[in-house]
Amino acid sequence: MRLALAVTLLVALSFGDAAVAAPKPDRTPPVIRSAIAQGANITLSYSESLDPRAGPPSAFEVLVNGVSTNVRSVAVQGRQIRVRLARSVWSDDAVTIAPSERVRDRAGNRARFSRLAARNASPVGCSPGLAGKPSGVSEALRDPETTLSGVGKLRIAILFADFADAPGDESLPELYDQLLPPTTAFFRTSSFGRLSIETVFLPRWLRISAASRTIGAGGQMPIVLEAIRAADPFFDFSGIDAVEVVLSRDGSTAASAYLPDFAPTIVADGTRLRFSTVIGNAALGNEPTAGAREPNLWRVIVHETAHLLGLPDLYQTLPGESLEPVGSWDPMASPELAQDFLAWHKLKLGWFDPPQLRCLRSKPVEATLTPVTESGQTAAIAVRLSNDRALVVEARRRRGCDAALCSDGVLVYEVDASTSFQPITVRHAKERGVECSAPYAVGTSYRGDGVLVKILAEVGDGYRVRVSRQ
Ligand SMILES: [Zn+2]
Repeated sequence: MRLALAVTLLVALSFGDAAVAAPKPDRTPPVIRSAIAQGANITLSYSESLDPRAGPPSAFEVLVNGVSTNVRSVAVQGRQIRVRLARSVWSDDAVTIAPSERVRDRAGNRARFSRLAARNASPVGCSPGLAGKPSGVSEALRDPETTLSGVGKLRIAILFADFADAPGDESLPELYDQLLPPTTAFFRTSSFGRLSIETVFLPRWLRISAASRTIGAGGQMPIVLEAIRAADPFFDFSGIDAVEVVLSRDGSTAASAYLPDFAPTIVADGTRLRFSTVIGNAALGNEPTAGAREPNLWRVIVHETAHLLGLPDLYQTLPGESLEPVGSWDPMASPELAQDFLAWHKLKLGWFDPPQLRCLRSKPVEATLTPVTESGQTAAIAVRLSNDRALVVEARRRRGCDAALCSDGVLVYEVDASTSFQPITVRHAKERGVECSAPYAVGTSYRGDGVLVKILAEVGDGYRVRVSRQ
């Protein structure tokens, strides 16, 4: 009896299926349910599965703090669209998105065009810089497409090049030992072990066809091309992230860095070589002596390598300006002290985590800043001044990488991510012109940019500060 009933039901069900086989056509457009921003991704969720052809990245409009931000790629998966931005956003950024008008369901119904605010689930932090330069070297957040990562392992090929009018006469193993171990040790220490640079060198001089005196700064890319071609029969470029070419000591005093934005990609051993530097015998301070190697040239290698990680130059001055805007507080300004990087740079490179940057919003922030040479709880306090400018407060102490600095104290500087000319300007504690007087001592304060920074006390190696709006 039971069995018969079951059979009847099955029959009925199969009839039912037959009836569903001719469904009503889907005329319901897909409805957007949510938009969640997290780092460089925005995930859009819809009410139904989508046609995979949602339109090109340029058809998606993303505004971060009201400023248009490039979309790098768009991928549809089921009901979701994953929109990848050219740069990451942080937790305090306002993100809105207008999806492409071509978003449709699988039946071809077009989603209604809308602009909506994304829920921001990004790492905690505050950042100007989203309106900054879209790629390459800048004070904006790092662009992963056009710069090397400051975290993890980098394999760098070290080539040595000379010229008929400036032949190489140094022992290359000795020169390598003089230049590279200090460079890699500096990056290891400054990054708290987060960046590990492995260098592989070719112990032979590679002859460049042009005369050295005809090649100036900015025109050194042909040296890289020629050195790679000359090295290729003897050197395996597999897995190499960057190539650094060190010139003979009388070859040139210029040094350059080349990033994919403004240099051709060279392929050797199946590896795309997109990042390179040329290290001339740049003297730190004075003119080099003919026939002598600048003893601290490794600090120039630190500077040029940091360009490949996305850091800009900080030494430019306007005509009539006697003091550089950053002076001796960062290797991108003047590397001669082998000093540490600004906290802002260490954040950009991923050596500090976003929570180590405290942000001033409406309420005053009081915190103990640990020196940038240490990885403490609070490395810096930032006050956002506009979409692309911030005021940053950090502590500097004469120890570790900063042992050669000429004073201790709290450094206050402005960061402008929208420019590569003087993107950072230190707010000097005393009158400009006295380099050692830049930092603020306990009991003093900085007042400017609508902000008050009070240096309250020394706490261990650090400084207790209070930052408020005026
Ligand atoms: Zn530079």
